[in-house]
Amino acid sequence: MNQKIYINNHWQGEELEHFDVVNPATKEVIATVPNGGRNEAEQAVEAAHAAFETWSVLTAQERSQFLAKWHQLIEENKEKIGKIMTMEQGKPLNEAIGEVGYANGFISWYAEEAKRIYGETIPASHTNKRIFVQKQPVGVVAAITPWNFPAAMITRKVAPALAAGCTAVIKPAEETPLTALKLAELAEEAGIPAGVVNFITGNPQEIGDTWIEAERVRKITFTGSTEVGKQLMKGAAETVKKVSLELGGHAPFIVMEDADLDKAVEQLIGSKFRNSGQTCICTNRVYVQASVLETFSEKFKAAVANIKTGNGLEENVDLGPLINKQAIEKVQNHLDDAAAKGGEVLIGGNSFVENEGQYFEPTIISGATDNMLCMNEETFGPVAPIASFQTEEEVIQRANNSPYGLAAYVFSENIGKAVRVSEGLEYGIVGVNDGLPSVPQAPFGGMKESGLGREGGHHGIEEYLEVKYISIGV
Ligand code: ADP
Repeated sequence: MNQKIYINNHWQGEELEHFDVVNPATKEVIATVPNGGRNEAEQAVEAAHAAFETWSVLTAQERSQFLAKWHQLIEENKEKIGKIMTMEQGKPLNEAIGEVGYANGFISWYAEEAKRIYGETIPASHTNKRIFVQKQPVGVVAAITPWNFPAAMITRKVAPALAAGCTAVIKPAEETPLTALKLAELAEEAGIPAGVVNFITGNPQEIGDTWIEAERVRKITFTGSTEVGKQLMKGAAETVKKVSLELGGHAPFIVMEDADLDKAVEQLIGSKFRNSGQTCICTNRVYVQASVLETFSEKFKAAVANIKTGNGLEENVDLGPLINKQAIEKVQNHLDDAAAKGGEVLIGGNSFVENEGQYFEPTIISGATDNMLCMNEETFGPVAPIASFQTEEEVIQRANNSPYGLAAYVFSENIGKAVRVSEGLEYGIVGVNDGLPSVPQAPFGGMKESGLGREGGHHGIEEYLEVKYISIGV
């Protein structure tokens, strides 16, 4: 596959310095890619800006057909892309192929939604006037994406952008450029015209700064750390760009005493340990009502004992390595802090190295208290601290006591209670008896410092559209 920068339908960057892409399960260098910077970032904007003239005036049907073709090629290459993803990111192969399906779902969904960008007519105040409202694409979109979902974070941004009539410049994370470049290759094969999508690997700061400063970039869409998101938002103020941010989370998982405990455990396993706990909507803290604490903890422990950790390319592996050494250190730090504050390891608790890959055992901490790091900061690893609570009001208050507000989960078989609690939670996404809520047709996004804007669904395309009011004298 191509391991270069893709701008204006050209694969380039051989002459640049390169950086290594490493398999986290073996620490082998699996590829090197160009370390692009300011020049490439500017060229990409130039190409996207030129392409906008023609792409934005295609009919919705035409744009839809390009997206549909891209979707078809990704579907045909699902296993291949999944394997690339596992090798650069570490998640088990089945999970990686699952992500490709999820990622591709955004492309097919927005291929359809392109045709439904409806305007409005509004009754005028005078008989000799008419009021029309039109939606138009914002222009060139810059997308910066993280390593934890190497395919989905790209398509979730690029599919609605293209459907709306925007063109895009994209910078994947340094850790996972290969999945992105494979998507670029298939976009080329799908015949998506030159300059409509441009992919640059390279220096985050230089590329980010170039795009933030560029007047012709009209929208910045970012998924990653809260720290970088805030910097980008500040920078975007200079040219008053539209901004969408998907930042950190700290999801509470609330188990009420009338929950179906087996269902709650099953869903918690998915929510907590998917991608080894490295997703922004992964459960970070578990609150269990005191009367069912013991039973729930036993069931959860028994389920965790069945999780198999290892190289994601091997059969039956549930949990892959963590992305790098710093990730292991952060998890260890959270665990040490919890132990110092009275938490007890119910199962797991150790990191280990196998074939150079760095793993952390799936871990449960019992007796968690609100002053622990793991109850406040994103762990981004396979650790589930369990705290107990007495009342509905108390757990809502404790769950909301966070600067984050991305995803929360509540388990109860009492529909009234489940609705009350979900309405009380200051979170953009609430899973009621559901630990895996992400789908292409629903609005994904956070409140408070977890972000701005929504991705997915008909809400997601609005982020790439301007509203134009046309007042007509007749
Ligand atoms: P994570 O903790 O997920 O690695 P980051 O926010 O560091 O979070 O990374 C998410 C994306 O943001 C990556 O593509 C990364 O290269 C990019 N990035 C990191 N620093 C900057 C920056 N200063 N400007 C623009 N993008 C950046």
